[in-house]
Amino acid sequence: MEDRVCWPLRFGGKLPFAAACRIRTESIVTYRSGRHFLQLPGPTNTPERVLRAMSKPTIDHRGPDFQALTRRLLDGMREVFKTEHATFIYPASGSGAWEATIANTLSPGDRVLAFEQGFFAGKWAQIGRRFGLDVDLRPWSMREGVTPETVADALAEDSDGRIRAVMVVHNETSTGVTTDIEAIGRAMRASGHPAMLFVDAVSSLVVTDLRHDEWSLDVTLTGSQKGLMLPPGLAMVAAGPRALAAAESATLPNSYWSWTDQAAFNERGFFPYTPATHLLYGLEEALAMLAEEGFDEVFDRHARFGRATRAAVRAWGLDVYAQNEEEASAAATAVLVPEGHDADALRARILDRFDMSLGTGLGPLKGKVFRIGHLGDLNALSLLGALAGVEMGLRLAGVPHDGGGVDAAMNVLTQNGEAT
Ligand SMILES: *Cc1c(COP(=O)(O)O)cnc(C)c1O
Repeated sequence: MEDRVCWPLRFGGKLPFAAACRIRTESIVTYRSGRHFLQLPGPTNTPERVLRAMSKPTIDHRGPDFQALTRRLLDGMREVFKTEHATFIYPASGSGAWEATIANTLSPGDRVLAFEQGFFAGKWAQIGRRFGLDVDLRPWSMREGVTPETVADALAEDSDGRIRAVMVVHNETSTGVTTDIEAIGRAMRASGHPAMLFVDAVSSLVVTDLRHDEWSLDVTLTGSQKGLMLPPGLAMVAAGPRALAAAESATLPNSYWSWTDQAAFNERGFFPYTPATHLLYGLEEALAMLAEEGFDEVFDRHARFGRATRAAVRAWGLDVYAQNEEEASAAATAVLVPEGHDADALRARILDRFDMSLGTGLGPLKGKVFRIGHLGDLNALSLLGALAGVEMGLRLAGVPHDGGGVDAAMNVLTQNGEAT
């Protein structure tokens, strides 16, 4: 980027916004026809309707129109989280929701249990350590979901009840592996241990079913730029009664994230500071769109696209990183490239030739996997286009593979519901 120089172009004075850029290679980069394929596991494509909803004048965030909007959005988020309790909306990335959860509910030295599920679980644990928590981060096979038995055993060993919270990532976006949160909630209830359950649902909310109240989750958190189809910039949290009660006596300092401040203002339809007005307009539109499609259909669509993608990967003769089919993510598929090949070189080739962005391998998976995002605003043909781009990329990059991946995906997408 640094050695890229851009200057405005004028075609008879008609296109003042067009620009040409000279980059390292001395080539001139101008318009690329067709749409860019953003097939990351987040941020995801922002639909036109959401973009249009956002292009409105800024309004007074302390005025009556805004007050009504806030109330509708907090109710809307309650519906999405499937909770009757508190939800909070912050101007922040998903990481902010991690921090909000910790800073509100815990005290220095509190023990929390987490598992090395992948890059995101690791980052959340690291935030806990920075806040002075005693984080018990247990080794875990990144190719499998956390099992309820493991959580139950860890709680059973904790006879003096030191563990205050268990932090689990619902869909580990770096590996494409989903954990059965409902089963973990059930196991924790059955154990009688008082630890709270905190769930990262950043790439699973409105992708895979999640029920905050019914599954006895204490905090569920998410971000705007994945299943919710918004640009990055909002973080949302659902907090159940036990988490809210814990917040009353927790002593970690918090200010920007304070649930007390949020609740006091939210109650009147406002926020304690200037909210991200335009993202909130977008959120209202996105919630309306999801409701129109129907949440169950949204879940089915994501599950179908996951199956179609994995069928393509298997037809290519490549490995899906997720070990168990029933834990394979509906949001994103991480694909292992054969030894001796670099997943990032493949991604770069695909971006260059086909104008498609795929997700990179994160942490220890750098260069070893690439990730195909299949969440958010997507239909069958967009998915097939993405898979065709991958298949052509494999050919161009000389990665050994079999043909027929797109065909295998088409077979899945034309089967009827029950059969798939
Ligand atoms: C994207 C993501 C996050 C948050 O990332 P930000 O870059 O801070 O928005 C957290 N957890 C998971 C599982 C994610 O996929």
